[in-house]
Amino acid sequence: MSRFLSEKYRNLAPYTPGEQPRERKYIKLNTNESPYPPSAGVLAAVSAEAEKLALYCDPECTALRTALADRYDTTADRVFVSNGSDESLYFAFLAFGSGGVAYPETSYGFYPVFADLCGIAAREIPLCDDFSIRKEDYFGARAMVVIANPNAPTGRALSRTEVEAIVRANPDNVVLIDEAYVDFGAESCLSMTEQYDNLLVVGTFSKSRSMAGARLGFAVGARPLIEDLERIKYATNPYNVNRMTQAAGTAALAEDAYYMENCKRIIETREYVSEELARMGFTVIPSKANFVFAKCPDIGGEDLYRAWRERGILVRHFKKANISDFNRITIGTRADMETLLSATADILKETRNSKQ
Ligand SMILES: *Cc1c(COP(=O)(O)O)cnc(C)c1O
Repeated sequence: MSRFLSEKYRNLAPYTPGEQPRERKYIKLNTNESPYPPSAGVLAAVSAEAEKLALYCDPECTALRTALADRYDTTADRVFVSNGSDESLYFAFLAFGSGGVAYPETSYGFYPVFADLCGIAAREIPLCDDFSIRKEDYFGARAMVVIANPNAPTGRALSRTEVEAIVRANPDNVVLIDEAYVDFGAESCLSMTEQYDNLLVVGTFSKSRSMAGARLGFAVGARPLIEDLERIKYATNPYNVNRMTQAAGTAALAEDAYYMENCKRIIETREYVSEELARMGFTVIPSKANFVFAKCPDIGGEDLYRAWRERGILVRHFKKANISDFNRITIGTRADMETLLSATADILKETRNSKQ
């Protein structure tokens, strides 16, 4: 830390991204990326767009916002696009968080970081013992409410009706629903933004649309909410979504059936992996996301993380006390997951032998 750093950032604890290893080839099941490549139209659009890199991109992202509006049955003026959904979340914290923010105690690791960065008072609401979110805990929150649905790293989802009850019980605060994983089987609340002026739904191309490296996210809500996000964007970086990413996003939406088909395969693989892990004695939290959250009674969470790692498989382990027995395992291809399952069988055999 330099002696010049502003006082208010001296205690800031930044977000820790999952590892992006360079040294050896791992089966990478640690950051919830898609195991499937972008579609052909995306590759073509990116390379055509690269020829125009000397020119600034469209700050209004018109084509992309129009394509999103078509896909989600809304209008372009109700759509905001951002450099990853992390940026939409950050802008929402800046825009709507001054009265405080409430979110689940076990959830996306960026929420506390944004609260801290923005100097916002945060209330962290514990999950139930089975990791579910109790909707009543968010009624009358007197703060912006932020909920990942499905939640991470648990994979559990609230129904639309439960979210609607939370939105109705907080008419004077923004309720932000982070739908990063919604395409893997949960109910989207996006269309409810037509009805409630305090609901903001955030999505991303990083998980279901094979574009984590392109950095593309979006937010949908009533026009005044979107105007507020635009105000912050034009006060920081008007060209927040680069030329190639705008083209890639528009092209991906033209081939959306490909991505939704991939989601279907991931869901099938997830159900298979959940059953197999349960058969080996794991506790597996029922997931609506592209990962499963699981623990094994025979081996600690961190030991299992290391054992997988030694066998070339990378998953995500969190040291936080209430979840340190668990690992979050991204669903890869069926072949990736067969490798994980057979490595797991080996590890358990060794562990159980050494205990005898
Ligand atoms: C992955 C993730 C995001 C953000 O992803 P971007 O790559 O910035 O779009 C947002 N929320 C949750 C809960 C996530 O898991």
